[in-house]
Amino acid sequence: MKRIFSGVQPTGNLHLGNYLGAIRNFVRLQDDYECIFCVVDMHAITVWQDPKQLIDNTREVAASYLAAGVDPEKHIIFNQSQVSAHAELGWIFNCVSRIGWLNRMTQFKDKAGKNREKASTGLYVYPNLMAADILAYKATHVPVGEDQKQHLELTRDIAIKFNNDFNVDLFPVPEPLIFGAATRIMSLRDGSKKMSKSDPSDYSRITMMDDADTVAKKIKKATSDPHLIPGAEVLDENGKLLDDARKERPEAFNLLSIYAALNDKELVDVLGEFEGKGFADFKKSLTEVAVTKLGPMGSEMKRLMDDKSYVDSVLKQGADRAAKLAEPVMKEVFDAVGFLRP
Ligand code: ATP
Ligand code: MG
Repeated sequence: MKRIFSGVQPTGNLHLGNYLGAIRNFVRLQDDYECIFCVVDMHAITVWQDPKQLIDNTREVAASYLAAGVDPEKHIIFNQSQVSAHAELGWIFNCVSRIGWLNRMTQFKDKAGKNREKASTGLYVYPNLMAADILAYKATHVPVGEDQKQHLELTRDIAIKFNNDFNVDLFPVPEPLIFGAATRIMSLRDGSKKMSKSDPSDYSRITMMDDADTVAKKIKKATSDPHLIPGAEVLDENGKLLDDARKERPEAFNLLSIYAALNDKELVDVLGEFEGKGFADFKKSLTEVAVTKLGPMGSEMKRLMDDKSYVDSVLKQGADRAAKLAEPVMKEVFDAVGFLRP
């Protein structure tokens, strides 16, 4: 069976981008793949996390998977640090991966900011650990948003180099699964930045647990423009937004794309619906659909986060199952590398 690995960092503020770009797709993949959905707490600490908050945020991500509809009986939900294979294989990949490869990673440059010397070394080698997450289970497919495409390329390079270096046919080269419209939801304040958990502004994102009033307020404050909503002339023959149009009005098209994704519609239909209207009208409709879609899920997440023992038991049981899957792979890896395990 085809096997999927994917993860979300427990860095708080789970947002609409995480939902539309990742978590919602997890639910849709359940019938066709064997799925491993991880809460990647080891990735989270590449930037400072308050320890108590990290525990709460770990339960938050697990709760979001469950509330969105991932079935923890059929599939695996667990947090990364419970399974030692991630750290072990991550180290080995630190020795397979090349500094030149990591130097090309744009996310490191974005996250480290200007003062690169002060970034943790973990942030720098993060893509090697991500490769380990995927390959410890010999996952064949990885659902990724645009922001993770480059890291998955690196995972593929590491799999190939490992197989070559040690003259084995051990790791599959995993394929990306990229989903339609919502692969890159932008900040509500600045259409040139992606919506992100780590953005200091609360108004840049709608979170999965925002109540109706907060969603309404954030959409009202979201940057748009005074122009009317255009028609299909901004799309190419495949219904894709023209780059020039996006560049000219990034915030406007971000809001329209969010509306399309929440309604499971194509952008062309949304433009048909709102052509010639202003953003004040449109924002009302956007608020309505956002509240309808996110409201029940947010309540369920809150309920689950109060039921700590249930969430923790899901994570524990998931970790036991994940460890069993990784064990034979790690045995092969240790043999290939030449680690004596008497
Ligand atoms: P951080 O700022 O801490 O990196 P993040 O918002 O980027 O947080 P991640 O945990 O790094 O979230 O990513 C989890 C998943 O959500 C990944 O699959 C990623 O591709 C997806 N994702 C993150 N941001 C967006 C976005 N703005 N639009 C669509 N998908 C997104
Ligand atoms: Mg991220």
